[in-house]
Amino acid sequence: MTTTIAAYAATSATAPLTKTTIERRDVAEHDVLIEIKYSGICHSDIHTVRGEWGSIAYPQVVGHEIVGEVTEVGSAVTRHKVGDRVGVGCMVNSCRECENCLAGEEQYCLAGNTGTYTAVDRDGTITQGGYSTHIVVVEDFVLKVPESIPYEKAAPLLCAGITTYSPLAHWNAGPGKRVAVVGMGGLGHMAVKIAHAMGAEVTVLSQSLSKQEDGLRLGADHYFATSDPATFTQLANTFDLIINSVSAQLDINAYLKLLRLDGALVNVGAPPEPLPIQVFTLFGNRRTFAGSSIGGIRETQEMLDFCAEHGIAPETELISADYINEAYERVLASDVRYRFVIDVATL
Ligand code: NAP
Ligand code: ZN
Ligand code: ZN
Repeated sequence: MTTTIAAYAATSATAPLTKTTIERRDVAEHDVLIEIKYSGICHSDIHTVRGEWGSIAYPQVVGHEIVGEVTEVGSAVTRHKVGDRVGVGCMVNSCRECENCLAGEEQYCLAGNTGTYTAVDRDGTITQGGYSTHIVVVEDFVLKVPESIPYEKAAPLLCAGITTYSPLAHWNAGPGKRVAVVGMGGLGHMAVKIAHAMGAEVTVLSQSLSKQEDGLRLGADHYFATSDPATFTQLANTFDLIINSVSAQLDINAYLKLLRLDGALVNVGAPPEPLPIQVFTLFGNRRTFAGSSIGGIRETQEMLDFCAEHGIAPETELISADYINEAYERVLASDVRYRFVIDVATL
């Protein structure tokens, strides 16, 4: 049996998203039913529905920054109860048996984690994401949202928050470390806040200085425009860690040259095009070029608790569902301050 619920879906790579209905499975013994309150808009949603990462099946509901309230639990559920404030991020299941799952790094499941949207679920259906009123998820992939994080602010933590927290933690951002954040959008502005809270010296590298005041307010110590060639000479051999959150292709070698000895540039931005590397740039300063994908369930809970403890919440613009298509255009124009969040009550 299934239940019909309201959603916003893409029907092709080029058509605007439209209101529709989808089916949610009945709550099984390990499942939790969540009434979605808020859903963030991630640039990955746009790459996905426009087929930029490969073709997908339509209609498709995206959205993987989900917060809401538990309204029903399966008979074997122990981690959550009716009324709990919870979140769901980019994955809703994994094999739980491979060495990466056993290490708590389910995002790197060797069998492939089950994405919150466009993935083949255990029952063979295609997963449908958070631009919808309800979702059914196995309890182990449901996070607890701390009371002190405002509900309408919490959603972007489930992707933008964990995707930046994980590499910052892994590469030891902290006191004495110089961290640069390339691109100050949804992910980038969270990277600034989290790196600052971890105690690092934070520099924003943005296309222009138009968001400089915001960057400094959010916790950056320095702010540079990458449109100015002098930025690249002035900052050569400077950073221990660079988080590149840019959604488009960049001259990555120019950024690698900003790393000091043993520095690492971690790409979290996911442009469809390759980023060609000149290996001699890596030889200098023994530099590392790395990637990072979201974060595991345990680390996502750790990030939520860290944000609650440090009073960190994203800068959001609350929108109604009928504004989604306009919001997409503004994200593409780098005109987002700094994450659009859909008020699902308007859906
Ligand atoms: P976003 O809000 O659009 O932010 C991207 C920022 O990149 C923009 O605000 C802009 O910052 C900069 N930018 C955009 N186009 C650019 C260009 N042509 N040249 C230089 N800079 C440009 O997007 P987001 O939601 O933060 O996502 C960023 C990327 O991360 C996307 O590709 C997304 O798919 C990916 N992502 C990856 C993971 C993962 O697990 N690795 C998770 C989530 C998202 P400025 O205006 O400051 O220059
Ligand atoms: Zn995302
Ligand atoms: Zn696995």
